[in-house]
Amino acid sequence: MTGTYLIRTFGCQMNEHDSERIGGLLRSDGMSPADDLEGASVVVFNTCAIRENADNRLYGNLGHLKPLKARNPGLRIVVAGCLAQKDRGSIQERAPWVDVVIGTHALPSLLDLLRRSEREGPLMDVREHTETFPSALPAARHDAFRAWVSIAPGCDNACTFCIVPLVRGPQRSRPIGDILAEVQGLVARGVVEVTLLGQNVNTYGRDVTVPGSSRRPLFADLLREVDGVKGLRRVRFTSPHPHDFTEDVIAAIAGCERVCEHIHFPLQSGSDRVLRAMRRSYRRERYLGWLDQIRRAVPAIGVSTDIIVGFPGETERDFQDTLEVVERARFDSAYTFQYSPRPGTAAATMDEQISKEVVQERFDRLVTLQERISTERAAEQLGRTLEVLVEGGDRRGDSTRSRTRTNRIVHLSAPLEPGAFAQARITATAPHHLMGDLVDARAGARV
Ligand code: SAM
Ligand code: SF4
Repeated sequence: MTGTYLIRTFGCQMNEHDSERIGGLLRSDGMSPADDLEGASVVVFNTCAIRENADNRLYGNLGHLKPLKARNPGLRIVVAGCLAQKDRGSIQERAPWVDVVIGTHALPSLLDLLRRSEREGPLMDVREHTETFPSALPAARHDAFRAWVSIAPGCDNACTFCIVPLVRGPQRSRPIGDILAEVQGLVARGVVEVTLLGQNVNTYGRDVTVPGSSRRPLFADLLREVDGVKGLRRVRFTSPHPHDFTEDVIAAIAGCERVCEHIHFPLQSGSDRVLRAMRRSYRRERYLGWLDQIRRAVPAIGVSTDIIVGFPGETERDFQDTLEVVERARFDSAYTFQYSPRPGTAAATMDEQISKEVVQERFDRLVTLQERISTERAAEQLGRTLEVLVEGGDRRGDSTRSRTRTNRIVHLSAPLEPGAFAQARITATAPHHLMGDLVDARAGARV
């Protein structure tokens, strides 16, 4: 196919990475990226279904495309991702100008569907199983120096609020050799940082075996193997499930030089009653105990989390428990969410859905508390000298946005090339970023 494409991505890193694969497929077929919507011959919405506002956004966006399609009937509109998997046929019922609906397991058939839809009209593929890992597809990566590497799509848990298992299916671990080959290939092309992606990375391996043996590879084994790839400077991973954060994973993080000192450690709630209703298998004291253990092994580690406010039946007492755990855990940052009922999940039909006003009021209190803690945690960085990896220019154009190993953003008052490493001395702090001076410009050139 010739022409240009535009991809709009919603949701998590997994979707961002799938979009790189979608772009890679379109490019491999002769297309190039479009500058804007008006100039595009293919528009792809790669969608998210995790909360209800994602649904509303998709249908709003599709509404905007209707007049464009009327003016330009050759425009191909694709809806991909989790909402495509969830809403299936109803997308084209509500928006008949959508040419292709493609679910999370069907990416390899994208080009075929696009071609056939020109002759046959609107098409949909929302099969239930993946035959080919998306990693086998070409990728148009966003950055030249860092990359996402999918290690285990899908999830075997059944947290009662979560739609992910319904739209992404069960966990499927990629063979360790495939993952290593991808990482080595990326490094050969100049990548210095990889992020291993999965819904529950630390259960990686329980559905595959090590070649030539019946042993199952563990996430800690994978971390050690990836850590050994020469030329790689940083390894990240997201997200681990607290329950599966075993001692060998902690030991691997502590012992692997390239594995960064940062974990995303989703709490969800600080109330044992709510955790049980969420079907999260840990309890608050266990969670805090694990956090202590991790911090003892890796004292400088940065910790972020996810918290849901207003789960059905959450009382003020439950919410106080969450505030208390947040106070004790001293997260560097938190993604805070208002509970959103998702069709097909167990929590959506539970009694005692909490009113919007109560959820909003609790949410505001939680955000205020976490802002205070994030401010205090950031202030501890003042005067330190930290290794940063340059990500790109700031919007102002005269400075640089970079990231520490602990996942903090540092704005540097020096223009440096993306992909460069530098040492930054922290001169000022804010809850969500730091300001720094360049100490060592030696690494200002790309490594
Ligand atoms: N696999 C990760 C884990 O186990 O924590 C999380 C994956 S999910 C894509 C990201 C976050 O979205 C969750 O940690 C949760 O806090 C939030 N989330 C999921 N379902 C939600 C819902 N129905 N309402 C509000 N937030 C939700
Ligand atoms: Fe959703 Fe729970 Fe699986 Fe995370 S572990 S993706 S929250 S079901």
